[in-house]
Amino acid sequence: MECGAGECEHMAIRKVITTENPILRQKAKKIHRFDPSLQRLVDDMFETMHAANGVGLAAPQIAQSIRVFVAEYQEPEEGAHHKVAVFNPEIVKAEGEALGSEGCLSIPGYRGDNIRRATRILVKGLDVRGKPIRVPAEGWFARILQHEIDHLDGILFLDRLDSPDDLHEITSEEEEAEAEAEAIIE
Ligand code: ZN
Repeated sequence: MECGAGECEHMAIRKVITTENPILRQKAKKIHRFDPSLQRLVDDMFETMHAANGVGLAAPQIAQSIRVFVAEYQEPEEGAHHKVAVFNPEIVKAEGEALGSEGCLSIPGYRGDNIRRATRILVKGLDVRGKPIRVPAEGWFARILQHEIDHLDGILFLDRLDSPDDLHEITSEEEEAEAEAEAIIE
């Protein structure tokens, strides 16, 4: 079903694919034609991400091998609220380095520790209408964006582990605790 930009009331939760699906390992394609159907895709991606309590989702995770991701993150203590959908994103600046833990909706039940990411980045890309945007990000939000952009190149957090010992199975208790602490990426 078709619907106009921003007025679709028929958002849908899409199926999130997991590591055994080879789409996750493909290099996703750039988007060249911006038509109203992309708003529907973005709405569905936010809906799917929220339903899974994630803070980021890349199109390949819903089996669409195209270069777009969504992310939504509330900084702690009434800090900034970030909500972005970026098409054809590129990291044009990256500074600093930090180790941190990440989860992934496509790798359910696991968490990776000590994953190295830049602490401050600048992402350039296009919005849902094809208009150029710049998204500066720091700290946890920067980590989310780097994780999502990796998905567009077929890279998973598993590839960024220095040691197999940094991969942990998450017990449901831990999952709950992490969800409360907003420590899970997506
Ligand atoms: Zn992921």
